[in-house]
Amino acid sequence: MPELPEVEVVRRGLAAVVTGRAITAVTVLHPRPVRRHLAGPDDFAAQLRGQTFAEPRRRGKYLWLPLVDGDAVLAHLGMSGQFRLDRPDSPLVPNTRIVFGLEGGDTELRFVDQRMFGGLSISPGGAELPSEIAHIGRDPFDSAFDLAAAVRRLRARRTGIKRALLDQQLVSGIGNIYADEALWRARTHYARPTQTMSRPQAAAVLAAATEVMSAALAHGGTSFDALYVNVNGASGYFDRSLAVYGRVGQPCPRCGTSILREPFMNRSSFRCPRCQRRPQGAR
Ligand SMILES: [Zn+2]
Repeated sequence: MPELPEVEVVRRGLAAVVTGRAITAVTVLHPRPVRRHLAGPDDFAAQLRGQTFAEPRRRGKYLWLPLVDGDAVLAHLGMSGQFRLDRPDSPLVPNTRIVFGLEGGDTELRFVDQRMFGGLSISPGGAELPSEIAHIGRDPFDSAFDLAAAVRRLRARRTGIKRALLDQQLVSGIGNIYADEALWRARTHYARPTQTMSRPQAAAVLAAATEVMSAALAHGGTSFDALYVNVNGASGYFDRSLAVYGRVGQPCPRCGTSILREPFMNRSSFRCPRCQRRPQGAR
């Protein structure tokens, strides 16, 4: 699943084109991505036709397209969901599932999803914040993000720091890539118990996460997975700047020690064994 920087790249790409434009047509090419709309694909299309998009919004890894009437189209990107903006006369890329015609006729908004774990749903009254994602914590890019409160919540957890970073209710937007990069920057082992961290240590990890996600955003995101592309189908290039993620056996950019890969929550964690030593007593 794309993390905050990759979703923000998509949000900005959409915002530049769809904001303030009316939906002239909706074509659902496969019913599965609209399965959350229980009234069915025809009703999904009928409800959206004639509506006007407001500026797309994001919280953490979640993206929604508010409508000026106060409802919203909530995107579930899942493992492989993508938005594209293409000329109506350009051929559909494989796995295009939903097509929105836009006022002016020069651009179509297309939802592409190979594996179809994701999809789109209509969130009634969801323009400000869809109720489906109201439990998601604010992300560090949110103007109302409260660092002191996030540090307090983090230290109150009895868990390892990486699990806490991945908990989207605590702080949203951080996934496996940026958690590993943030922990490397803050010289912290992923299993460090949160309740043993001082306020400055916890704040330093959150600051490192914010810094690395800002840097990734400036590079158009990370295209470690070929599915992380912008609305024109192009990928970001932050992967070249990753210090540990995906770099098993390569030298730590800080000390030269070989990066380790270890199993973590059915995935992997990457760390420098010298800069990020295992805490005493941690499993
Ligand atoms: Zn190192």
